[in-house]
Amino acid sequence: MLIPSSHIDISLNEDIGHEGSHVETDQALIESFKPNGTFNGSLNLTEYDTEYIAYHVNAAIIQASGEPRSLDPNNRYVINPGDSSDKVNQTINQYLADPASDYGVSPESPGPRIFEPKRPDQ
Ligand SMILES: [Zn+2]
Repeated sequence: MLIPSSHIDISLNEDIGHEGSHVETDQALIESFKPNGTFNGSLNLTEYDTEYIAYHVNAAIIQASGEPRSLDPNNRYVINPGDSSDKVNQTINQYLADPASDYGVSPESPGPRIFEPKRPDQ
């Protein structure tokens, strides 16, 4: 399949890749549930973990496109085709930590997990 490389298509590929990553991380957790209700806790990722993984899909698509592109609409968190993996990690971390990104999560403040069982008093 040949995918034309216009900016609109890159954006669409990013959306599909990003959401596909969330489906994968959700599905891995769901599939770990046993009939007795236990599950693999290491697959119950935090918001930081799941977004960090998903934005690496965006970054990979941007780098493969050969043109710089920002993770945010205000062009503050730009991924360049030549960025090292350390630089990409840094840009994604800065974007996720920025409250303006609607995430505001970091390794120190990772947000809720995929599955948060409700306590009976809630
Ligand atoms: Zn996401």
